Amino acid sequence: MAIREAACDLINYINRSPSPYHAVAEAIQILKKVGYQRLDETADWNLAPGGMYYLTRNASTLIAFALGEKFTPGNGCQLIGAHTDSPCLRVKQRSKHASVGYGLVKCECYGGGIWATWFDRDLKLAGKVIVRGKDNKLTSRLAHIDRPILHVPTLAIHLDRSVNEAFKFNKEEQLIPVLRMVEKELEGEKKVTGVEKQQQPFTKHHDSKLIGLLSDHLGCQGDDIVGFDLCLADSMPAGLAGLDEEFLMAPRQDNLVNAWAGTEALAKHSPAGSSTAAVLCLYDHEEVGSQSAHGAGTQLTNLVLERICGNNTGLLAKCISKSFLLSADQVHAVHPNYVSKHEANFQPAINGGVTMKHNSNQRYATTAMGAAQLRELARRNEIPLQEVMVRNDSPCGSTIGPIISAKTALRTVDLGCPQLSMHSIREMGGAKDPYHAVSLYKAFYEQFAAIDAETCDENCDGASTFI
Ligand SMILES: [Zn+2]
Repeated sequence: MAIREAACDLINYINRSPSPYHAVAEAIQILKKVGYQRLDETADWNLAPGGMYYLTRNASTLIAFALGEKFTPGNGCQLIGAHTDSPCLRVKQRSKHASVGYGLVKCECYGGGIWATWFDRDLKLAGKVIVRGKDNKLTSRLAHIDRPILHVPTLAIHLDRSVNEAFKFNKEEQLIPVLRMVEKELEGEKKVTGVEKQQQPFTKHHDSKLIGLLSDHLGCQGDDIVGFDLCLADSMPAGLAGLDEEFLMAPRQDNLVNAWAGTEALAKHSPAGSSTAAVLCLYDHEEVGSQSAHGAGTQLTNLVLERICGNNTGLLAKCISKSFLLSADQVHAVHPNYVSKHEANFQPAINGGVTMKHNSNQRYATTAMGAAQLRELARRNEIPLQEVMVRNDSPCGSTIGPIISAKTALRTVDLGCPQLSMHSIREMGGAKDPYHAVSLYKAFYEQFAAIDAETCDENCDGASTFI
């Protein structure tokens, strides 16, 4: 895969993935093309060596795995974890709102976004809609209204001369996107309050034209819509930029870069000749702490590993002790205008490759041995690998690595691609790093078991040697 081809594939993935649900659906498309089969969690699994499988939770979390052709239960796994969610505005469960002739859509702030960047953007809408069918069955449908229908206007500088010193706004009252002009029709509606309001059907709590747009899009009746989880997103497509097109300008690079690179690496990995399992875990809810049934704090990872090991506690423990997790999430590249914010010995460069994260306070789960082994993997494959630590006087982010490793006892390295403007509506990354990431993650799936067996002695971080 050429460097530019990788960047373009990622751009397509990001453009088609404005919500966690779409990120999972697109990853499934990539995996299905190479033969991955869906597993039903409610049924028995008849897993076969050489088999390639996936399952989802809430349609926003995906676990996929390929069992090596020589895999037997109790052997180890190489896991890559990433997340599918990003900070965004989400339509409130009751969103109808009108003000001085405008119809607006009340939204909830999801995660720690730089909300100022959501002003004066042409916003689109995407996510999951729950539709009731004729047989009363509830179906989860994906919706992607791929055109600018919403906009949060700023207040003119003439009405706020202090705006360039401090752009302040109230997230409840001033971050409400405009949908349309309503010519007083919504405002003129009979005011329904109290118990009567509580008992109104779901659709009555939203602008009728918004419901009409969704039902037309999905080919259902408006009244069939009985629930949704809808994200707002910038309608401007992702693309390459910079004088030599060395930059990737795209929303949600945190963390669709790694969700995509992990999926590509798994799709390109062949279970032929392997005696271990390659596992990909794409979790929802990282941006709000990962503590949910389908966040990285879920038991789902353990449950899946248990089933890979045949529900045998002894075999699961053996498997875990031989396994290794790459927790892949984006990294702050050194910022040209804020160099002093970065530890002088660690200044991750855009296009300098995947960056390994260290923090002895366990904001990242990388260990000394894991780091040494990963350096060896990168060295053998001539793949660039950068490293980062934060300044002692700087706050440090965290990610899914410490959460999963605490929950599962997996040896873990935290890493990711460097980028700027993290959590802005539009982020800035490198056009070459997606290629570097796929190369490293594929090498991890294919070679890490051998490197682990070769480099670990019997005291290797408490884990026995690989098989
Ligand atoms: Zn992230």
